[in-house]
Amino acid sequence: MSRIARLVGVGAVLGVAALILHPLAAEAYVTAWPALGDNVRFVRVFNNFADAQANDEVQADSHWPGFVGAPRALWKGAQEWSSRVHPGPDPLQTDGIGSGGANLDPHFTGLAANTGFPNDNVASELNGSNAGVIAFTELPPNDGWRIRFYANPWIFDDDPTGPAPGCIDLQAVMTHEYGHALGLDHSGVPGATMEAAPLDVTALRSLEGDDVAGVQALYGAAGSGKPRIDALTFDSSGVLTLLGANFAAGNELALQGMTIGNLSSTAGGAVLSVTPSSLPAAGDLQLSWSSGPASGSAVSNTFPFDPAGCAQPGRWCVGKPNSQGCIAAISHSGNPRASGGSFLITASQVLNNKSGLLLYSYVPAFTPFQGGTLCLGGGLKRTPASSSGGNPGPTDCSGGLSFDFQARILSGVDPQLVAGRVVFAQYIYRDPADASGWGLSDALAFAICP
Ligand SMILES: [Zn+2]
Repeated sequence: MSRIARLVGVGAVLGVAALILHPLAAEAYVTAWPALGDNVRFVRVFNNFADAQANDEVQADSHWPGFVGAPRALWKGAQEWSSRVHPGPDPLQTDGIGSGGANLDPHFTGLAANTGFPNDNVASELNGSNAGVIAFTELPPNDGWRIRFYANPWIFDDDPTGPAPGCIDLQAVMTHEYGHALGLDHSGVPGATMEAAPLDVTALRSLEGDDVAGVQALYGAAGSGKPRIDALTFDSSGVLTLLGANFAAGNELALQGMTIGNLSSTAGGAVLSVTPSSLPAAGDLQLSWSSGPASGSAVSNTFPFDPAGCAQPGRWCVGKPNSQGCIAAISHSGNPRASGGSFLITASQVLNNKSGLLLYSYVPAFTPFQGGTLCLGGGLKRTPASSSGGNPGPTDCSGGLSFDFQARILSGVDPQLVAGRVVFAQYIYRDPADASGWGLSDALAFAICP
């Protein structure tokens, strides 16, 4: 039984790959079409989805800012193919969204005004039905794609927690169809996202090893030199700062509705600051080198940015391996606020029963320090030292450090800790067996919310 319809010469469509309900023979991923060109890795949605269930998730999510309903579900579906995990969680994917690990990072650029042409990179609903076909992807001879979801007889659902009984998971079908847009045909591996006839459509949300192997075969595995955004901050004077690695001398930043070029980075390519002349719309941003290698290795992961919101605290920079071979890891709970709220900054994997403290400053850096990296620039502020606790002995990595930063904000001891202030924080602790005598965690970047 044919499991794929190839229509040549019909409306300039070269390949049509459909999610259909037919049995398959087992075989692994198939790369059937060329990889998408560098300039057509954007994703848009024409939101003509007619089912009420397709657009009833209208609660804003700061991790996926600017869009709700069907567009957000389709954004998340395409995003699963990205090189790195997106900060936005998904209730059904405990390992996060963004499992591709390839030189491929789709950029969701918002809404389209119509269904577009077959190479316009738009996902939309199509009136009508086609015996058992849920959706299909058009792959025209020239670069690009178009994804159509059949209106009948299906009821599409945008629910992040999975579809209601009798409905079909919009996000999951998008994940599968975008795999076709990337150049993959159906796989016979049971449970793979590119399986043609899944028992559980919702399971397609999450890429399996076979899908990852497929996208990496087409685009190459993401190398360690690829630009990477780990966190961002946006301060009250309108400065947007990206924190990560491998930013170049000349960078182009693509925001929702605007592009800013010729941006220099600092701190050895770990920091990039820009003041947009007007505020972009909320959504994912993406950085690319102005020159250099093509094919996605010069393009970053995407990262959520909401100029009107308060960015989530984010980890960045690198911790230093300690004398026991562990790297202290910073984390947080809560969100820092100028009044009220709760915000605890902690470090795990610290040597036990050692003295440590949280350092912070208002400038990011990436500077060699005590055999590791100091992620803070400008004047350093110290907080009171405490003991890491943990096992009584011998020395291991069971210690931890914790600091109530919200209490510090509210105490008024540092009058610069006001709403809109951006702060960079890092732990330092004693490591007597280390050559320098000090251990360092990685860093946390955060803005104090109103
Ligand atoms: Zn398919």
